[in-house]
Amino acid sequence: MKITANNPKRKSWLEVSPNSDFPIQNIPFGVFLTKDNIMTIGSRIGDFAIDLGALHQLGYFKGIDLTDDVFLQDRLNDFIAHGKGIWRLVRNRIADLFDIENPKLQNKKKDIQQIIHLVADIEMHLPVNIGDYTDFYSSKEHALNVGSMFRDPNNALLPNWLHLPVGYHGRSSSIVPTGKAIHRPFGQSKPAGAENPIFGPSKAVDFELEMAFITTDVNKLGKRISIDKAEDYIFGMVLFNDWSARDIQAWEYAPLGPFLGKNFASTISPWIVTLDALEPFRIASPKQDPKPFEYLQQEGNNSFDIHLETFIKPENGIENKVNHSNFSNLYWTMAQQLTHHTSNGCNVVAGDMMGSGTISGPTPDSYGSMLELSWNGTKPLKLNDGSLRQFINDYDTVIMRGYCQKDKVRIGFGDCAGKLLPAL
Ligand code: MN
Repeated sequence: MKITANNPKRKSWLEVSPNSDFPIQNIPFGVFLTKDNIMTIGSRIGDFAIDLGALHQLGYFKGIDLTDDVFLQDRLNDFIAHGKGIWRLVRNRIADLFDIENPKLQNKKKDIQQIIHLVADIEMHLPVNIGDYTDFYSSKEHALNVGSMFRDPNNALLPNWLHLPVGYHGRSSSIVPTGKAIHRPFGQSKPAGAENPIFGPSKAVDFELEMAFITTDVNKLGKRISIDKAEDYIFGMVLFNDWSARDIQAWEYAPLGPFLGKNFASTISPWIVTLDALEPFRIASPKQDPKPFEYLQQEGNNSFDIHLETFIKPENGIENKVNHSNFSNLYWTMAQQLTHHTSNGCNVVAGDMMGSGTISGPTPDSYGSMLELSWNGTKPLKLNDGSLRQFINDYDTVIMRGYCQKDKVRIGFGDCAGKLLPAL
């Protein structure tokens, strides 16, 4: 089935500013609360939110095999479980309904009133009930930087890294949507040179510039998937700030890996941009040497050209851009991550979320965390107001943005923002 929604010539009868992340070619999916306190599943064009529950009730999805209540829910899991064919039909239909050439909905003032909300009037919620969350470690530059800092610059990559997409199981309960403030976590750490560990508020709260993908039902327990089918199970992507407390992490991580230094919060952008919408922005991923095992081998362009940026905004201050990176810097692709995840028969279900790992590039201004940007605090960043940052200060807001751009079409993700408040 063809993706007709992406046609770069399409224009919407809803006004869209030229640098909006949400032209008619995007059609992301999210969950929001209206000003009348109704929770619904929706999409977005420009600064307008579209109530898909209302659109469905009014009969605009006629002919598409959807359950009656699929959009009258507070999570997208059910819709995602409908599978790729249905996602594509629904996106195509929404694009048609809001196309300036199509009078069908455009002329129905009463229906429009029920369907359209101003983005300023709604509150975005978590788009999915995240059953399980896995975080990978798939940027070679990030792994090299961290390995050099904490182990040995001459042996920065551990021997397994070039053979498999390293990952760990994270915790989904503390994943929050953009705009929700988080608190500096308490934890154990062992300051350099100290004889004994201490317990108190972290002194090294950091961000990790990541993206995450959301899956549909992938496999039954015990079954594997083949790499050429893997992308069919990926619904879409969000920006992902994997907040990290470096001092807690450094003391606790041996021998079982990340724990409380990572699971106190992660922030996501609230609109899931579908893999279909990203299709025009395919690009090659880095050449893999040594060649991976056969079950991980792929041909063609398996990454996406997504520009990524992080900003720090102090309380009452202006935004300071602290890095710019690109999703295509990642050594391991999403298809490889998902195939590897199921290669032992582990079952992945609708609403599971997979983080990419910190996305660092080759140059110092493309590093995806303060740990790397300030080289573990030894080279503090200077902000516009003259203040220095080794890590994140109380009342700083960390904002991540991401977008693709080609043929005058810009597909973006909106803000992934979170403010750090003092420890409770
Ligand atoms: Mn991470």
